[in-house]
Amino acid sequence: MKIKSFPHGVHPPEFKELTAEKPLEQMPPSEKVMIPLLQHFGSPAQPLVQKGDEVLLGQKIGEGKSLFSASVHSSVSGKVLSVESLNHPGGSPVLTVTIANDGQDSVFPERRGEKNPFSLRPEEIRQKVKEAGVVGLGGAAFPTSVKLSPPKDKPIDTLIINGCECEPLLTSDYRLMLEAPDDILKGAELARIATGAERIIVGIEENKKEAFELFQDKLQNSPGEAVLLKTKYPQGAEKNLIYSLLRRKVPRGGLPFDVKIVVQNVGTAKAIWDAVKDGKPLYERAITVSGQSIKEPKNIITRIGTPFRDVINFCGGASDEANILVMGGPMMGIAQWSLDVPVVKGTSGMLAWPAPSLSREYPCIRCSRCLEHCPMGLVPTQLAKYVKFDLFKEAEDWGILDCVECGSCQYTCPSKIPLVHWIRLGKNKIISLRKKSA
Ligand code: SF4
Ligand code: SF4
Repeated sequence: MKIKSFPHGVHPPEFKELTAEKPLEQMPPSEKVMIPLLQHFGSPAQPLVQKGDEVLLGQKIGEGKSLFSASVHSSVSGKVLSVESLNHPGGSPVLTVTIANDGQDSVFPERRGEKNPFSLRPEEIRQKVKEAGVVGLGGAAFPTSVKLSPPKDKPIDTLIINGCECEPLLTSDYRLMLEAPDDILKGAELARIATGAERIIVGIEENKKEAFELFQDKLQNSPGEAVLLKTKYPQGAEKNLIYSLLRRKVPRGGLPFDVKIVVQNVGTAKAIWDAVKDGKPLYERAITVSGQSIKEPKNIITRIGTPFRDVINFCGGASDEANILVMGGPMMGIAQWSLDVPVVKGTSGMLAWPAPSLSREYPCIRCSRCLEHCPMGLVPTQLAKYVKFDLFKEAEDWGILDCVECGSCQYTCPSKIPLVHWIRLGKNKIISLRKKSA
């Protein structure tokens, strides 16, 4: 069997064995949840509740009013303690609804499931997905209803289901594939109907052979197929995945729509099914809690809004030498400075390590390793230099906005130059300059 892949990239040590055989475990809800009204790409949801209100499990507490927004729902039943700006694991403070859990899990009664989801029209599927506040669960948290709405002049022929989970240490998608393959495939079929795609391809890395064989078996005699991909980082980045599977190149500044493709992560596909079949809002998700400093690494299903501190305690706590906590994977994750931030829809993992021995940064020796490993064909060393000297126009001309912030360049740099830091800074600056001049 030919194993597909993309050029460049890296292969960091995986460390997936810490949790790969650990089934998903339901974590009991916390006594208090903190639910930010911005957990997605786009504008924040508008609050629908205030201090003192009683809320039910799954009740909408924030309305995503604009196209690029997503509604948020309560992940417990209980009383609203506050609606105020609180720290967010993404970095900046965000308006957040804090709820005291009454321990009853009284379900909001107006959930509208669907007896025959496959009879729905595309716009009905999109509406139910929007109503449930579903966003991409691979980490980007892009509103899913938008991704399921290709422009009329850009017909879709293929829906790709992303089962790569290429970040080291993370295994919750793998467990989801083993434990809920039918829900994933039914959600994928709804996404196929919504986008008008003709076929489904499920892309899975070869380090998840068991999941691949399961999907291959389940997709027999269907218009879909499972395809085995080389274990390489960042195989799961959309543009690389599309190239690996279909040899199509998304144009610079373009979207998968431009090459007739929509990509959804396996967790998102399951959330689509839960939203449409059961009317279940996105108020919990699967995450991996792992790393050298976590005493009992696990895969868990946890409620949105659960404090990081509670999650770590549920996994046996962190050892004394723990010094670094990251939300997400080790390559693209966001370092945390507090345990009092909540799990959000985009939290795919929580990892902890002892502090690494600090290595200082050295001058660039022009070894070109960063170029050789960049999956987007960029020149990271040059981009970083342009940003350092405020040459944003030049950085843009050299394609800085195409950087997917995968970290492959920095991982391979022998001089330990924080290339992603500079590139991210440059991207943010260019985007804010664009907004100012609009
Ligand atoms: S420049 Fe961006 S896309 Fe290229 S390797 Fe570095 S982080 Fe990844
Ligand atoms: S990998 Fe580091 S040292 Fe080598 S060219 Fe790139 S920035 Fe310079």
